[in-house]
Amino acid sequence: MIPLGSASFKLLAVNAEIIAVGSELLTPFRSDTNSLYLTDQLNQLGVEVIFKSVVGDDFKRLVAAAQHALFRSEIVIFSGGLGPTEDDLTREAVAEALGLSLRRNEEVLAAIEQRFSSRGWKMSPNNAKQADVLEGAVVLHNANGTAPGQWVSGKFEGRDRIVILLPGPPHELKALFESECRERLRTKLPPAFLATRVLKVAMLGESHVDARVSPIYKRYCNVQTTILAGAGEIELHFKARGDTMEAAQARVDEAADAVEEELEDAVYSRDGQSLEQIVGYWMQMRGATLAVAESCTGGLLAERITSVAGSSRYFLGGAIVYSNALKTELAGVPADMIERHGAVSREVAAALAEGIRYRCESTLGVGITGVAGPGGGTAVKPVGLVFHALASASGTEVIERHFPGDRKRIRRFASTLALDMVRRKLM
Ligand code: ATP
Ligand code: MG
Repeated sequence: MIPLGSASFKLLAVNAEIIAVGSELLTPFRSDTNSLYLTDQLNQLGVEVIFKSVVGDDFKRLVAAAQHALFRSEIVIFSGGLGPTEDDLTREAVAEALGLSLRRNEEVLAAIEQRFSSRGWKMSPNNAKQADVLEGAVVLHNANGTAPGQWVSGKFEGRDRIVILLPGPPHELKALFESECRERLRTKLPPAFLATRVLKVAMLGESHVDARVSPIYKRYCNVQTTILAGAGEIELHFKARGDTMEAAQARVDEAADAVEEELEDAVYSRDGQSLEQIVGYWMQMRGATLAVAESCTGGLLAERITSVAGSSRYFLGGAIVYSNALKTELAGVPADMIERHGAVSREVAAALAEGIRYRCESTLGVGITGVAGPGGGTAVKPVGLVFHALASASGTEVIERHFPGDRKRIRRFASTLALDMVRRKLM
């Protein structure tokens, strides 16, 4: 690489790549969260992240990863491996990949020594390598740690490149990116703004949603659409760039509005709010109160409702009625009804909802009963079968569903469906 003075340098295309360095990130115990943060920051600058990799503390593999990245991405950001120990090799590997020398920077060395002596410590010799700076690089001051970041821009194999080295500890990386990189990057980029929008959908399957909306979002080729599915909830993420924020936002809104029109009231949120929050909003709008009687969800529904600040204004409480005796005692389900239909039945779900509504004197009552598994299923009542009931002054509605997945997923599905029933009732 031929390093260039920063003054004249400006990128035309804007794709970035992140390389997270550290063998601990290849174990089951640590995950690379720095790249999530960096992706968000880069997206806000209108830059798309097109590749990410995690590489262990291995010189040759690091050099190879760096070379691949430099071939295909205009901006390459390294996280980690800038410390003083022998396995911290990012500086050396980047120098090798770029064909640049490393030079000990006396000013940086003095600052590191000063950092140690100000704490009354003596600097051990291995720390000196943190003062090794790539030829032509700008040193990025690290206010929270010893190893400074580095920024080098120039021509690599004839193409314009920016390479940034940041320390691994997340608080150091964030502070350094914000103080030293964000504005510096902005000046190197064509003006581009990125607008995003999230639509959230309840209780429709992922393939069903995709089949309905993909013909629509495919019409908007300037808008990138991603579908993320959870148990009973789907998020549609829209992303678009523009020369101004207004232009980018208009693109995103046009696509999102068209999709929303197709999905109608299955869309419960258009600005990132959770289903619990939306239920809270409608409960307060209607001045309604709610009580729940939960069997197979074991309090999960109440937990989700009360995760919203201010839920005491509409949530009265309820009961976890796992045993048949407590279904009768706390929610007033007739014992002979349980005998006749079984605890997991349409009738018992309705009786739970009505019983808890009556006993708590709430506007709405919810009852949930089902087989969460993995044991306890039968041919007639298989694992995943759940009855959800919503009782109100106008009567009781029961929805029967057979959810896929393990115990955790089934319980999550059931609580989501119950929340969505409340939302639809109030809308
Ligand atoms: P140090 O001087 O602390 O050694 P470093 O730049 O060498 O800094 P690492 O040794 O790679 O950084 O990581 C230091 C700490 O930061 C570790 O606890 C590590 O788990 C955490 N860390 C490193 N990389 C990441 C990452 N990509 N995402 C989240 N945490 C990370
Ligand atoms: Mg380290």
